[in-house]
Formats: sequence, C-alpha cells, structure tokens
Amino acid sequence: MKITELKVHVLKSPLAEPFAFSQGWVHQRSATLVELLTDDGLIGWGEAFAQGLEPPEIAAAAIEHALKPLLLGENPLDTEVLWHRMYHRTRDYGRKGSVVAAISAVDTALWDIAGQAHGLPVYQLLGGAFRRRVQPYATGFYRIQGQGEAARLADEALRHWGAGFRLMKVKLGYGVDDDIECMLAIGKALQGKPVRLMVDTNHAYGRAEALRLGRALAEFDLRWYEEPVAPEDRPGYVEMRRTLPMPIAGGENEHTLFGFAELLGAGCVDVAQPDIGSCGGLSAGRHIAALAQAHGVMVNPHVWGSAIAQAAALHYIAALPVAHHSLFATEPVLEYDRSSHPFRQQLVTRPLQMVDGWVEVPDAPGLGVEVDRAVLQAYSR
Ligand code: MG
Repeated sequence: MKITELKVHVLKSPLAEPFAFSQGWVHQRSATLVELLTDDGLIGWGEAFAQGLEPPEIAAAAIEHALKPLLLGENPLDTEVLWHRMYHRTRDYGRKGSVVAAISAVDTALWDIAGQAHGLPVYQLLGGAFRRRVQPYATGFYRIQGQGEAARLADEALRHWGAGFRLMKVKLGYGVDDDIECMLAIGKALQGKPVRLMVDTNHAYGRAEALRLGRALAEFDLRWYEEPVAPEDRPGYVEMRRTLPMPIAGGENEHTLFGFAELLGAGCVDVAQPDIGSCGGLSAGRHIAALAQAHGVMVNPHVWGSAIAQAAALHYIAALPVAHHSLFATEPVLEYDRSSHPFRQQLVTRPLQMVDGWVEVPDAPGLGVEVDRAVLQAYSR
C-alpha cells in the first residue's frame, strides 16, 4: 500500500460570543485537518491541535511544505518509521509547537489508515482496551466579561451537573482574588453533590501567586491543579508539587518523548497531559505513556479539538494502563470541552455522545470517524 495524496484542510468558524481563557480572548474555533489517501482507496484523518490563539495556517504550511514530500509514495503502515523521518527532517526548526502539531496530524491519519487496513479499531493496534468507556469531565467556566463572573460560573456548574457531569475543570488565572471568589461560589452551588473539581490557570501566574492560589484551594480536594506556572518553569512545577496538597498536572504545551523526558525526569507533574494533536500524535503518545509508566506518573491526555481529535484521544485513553494498579485504581478521564465549537458536533456522522455520564470508545476500524464532506466544505478557509 502506498500514500497517493495528502490534503490539508483549514477550518474556521467565528464565535457568536468570544470567550477568554487566561492567555487571551478566543474569537474563532479552528482546526487543521489532514486527509491521507492510499492506492487501496483508504482515507485516513488526523488533526493538529489549534490552541485558541494559534493560527491553524502554521501547522497547515508545515504539513504541506515540510511533511507531504516525505510521505507521498510511502507505505502508511510504517507508522514508527515515518514518525522518525518527519521528526528528524524538521528537528532543526521544529521540536515544539505547531511543527510537532503538524507531525501529530499526519501520524494520527497514518494510524487511522492502519486500523482500517487491518479491520481493527486503533485501540486494538495500540495493544488493546483497558476500558471500553471513559468518564468525561466538563471543561468550561471560561469568561465572557473578564472578572467578577462568580454568580454566572456557579450557574454554569449547575448546568454541567444537570447534563450528567460528575467531574468539572474550572478555568482560572484571571487574578488570584477573582479566582478564589469564583471557586467559593462554584463550591457553594455544588455543595452536597458528589462532584470532583479540577482547576486550570493556563500558566497565568508566577510561583508566588500560583502557590497562594493553590493554598487557598486546599479545601476543595481537587483532582488536579493544571499548568500552575509556565511550561518552561520546571523548578516552579517541582516547587508546586512539593508544597501544595493537590496533584499537579501539565504537559499540553510539551511535546514528544524528548520534551516529556525532561518534564518527567525533573519530577514536575503527578498527571502528564500530552495532547495527541500536538505531542506528536499517537506514536508519540505511546512513547510518552511508556515513559510516564516508568516514572510512576499518570497520563491523562488534553483534548480540545474537533471530533477527530476526540476520537484519537478516546482510542489512546482506552489503551492507557493505570499508573498505579489496585482494585479501585484511578482511571484516566476524557476532557469534554463545553465551550462553543460550531463544527465539532457536525463534522462527523457519529459525533461523540455522553450516555448516563460515560462516553463509549469507538469500535469501528481505524479511528471510527466518517467526515461529513458538506460540513468540511462549509467551514474550509
Ligand atoms: Mg489546560
């Protein structure tokens, strides 16, 4: 089998209501998709993670100009060989960010083809499913004004509860005092309900403020405190982990085996969060999972993309071993972003569904996604 064509699709949709995370205002949802075609007639899909402020054209250009020439005519089942070829050929100007996101999209599409070629779901090729359903957690609590939205966020918590979520991640990083006020309001709204919270500041603070916030939230029994400091501040992560009572999470802005070797080797996190759309794809996800296992660190991927990224994450989560085995071990959970995403639900014919508080892992061959061409066309830019 040979790769005969590679198409890049840049999708964009302006948001009716822009929202903020700690690093800025998000005005549009976007995605960089890869469509790989083979001489067997198979079509594989992959997605580069486009962070809220990231122009999707960067990964698209890397795919088109740097990666496509390496792939045409190659055997798509050579997933590991092609991963290393892409990485080595871009090393001197890549290694992080959108270039590795580009590799991630191609790698994911290769795994989609491999699954279809073998007639097996991707999780089977990854070694099998430790779990066939995953508990989702609601990511939300973005701001639409900025500060002073505690009452609205408390209402939002009740909406997530009503929708069946028992795990929720609160976006913080809008000023420590405002953060604490919002958390108290959310905690009060959820009082007596069996909900576990996480928080994520998207590295809004330096160490002093990050510690102050962490200490103030000690009573919440958080499942994790995500990106408390900048991804480059590894000693800062270590200090958070040593000083604060809750588990420390990070890694959505780290990439490949090499980046995670530094993060894990320095002892930065209790929960490693590679994003399959930016860490280097499912191949890199496997490398990172093995490394994390050796460090006794739990892997729980970050997910913020379209339906293709969600499907890739579900297969990856299905195939993740728990970090610490026991009868009632902590299982990985699925990030289920509840912010506006105009094309996510429409992009595939069988969008992800939550039923009774759980999401099933797809079991059709490959990623198990079928892209709606009309929707693809409608949002292509
Ligand atoms: Mg995050």
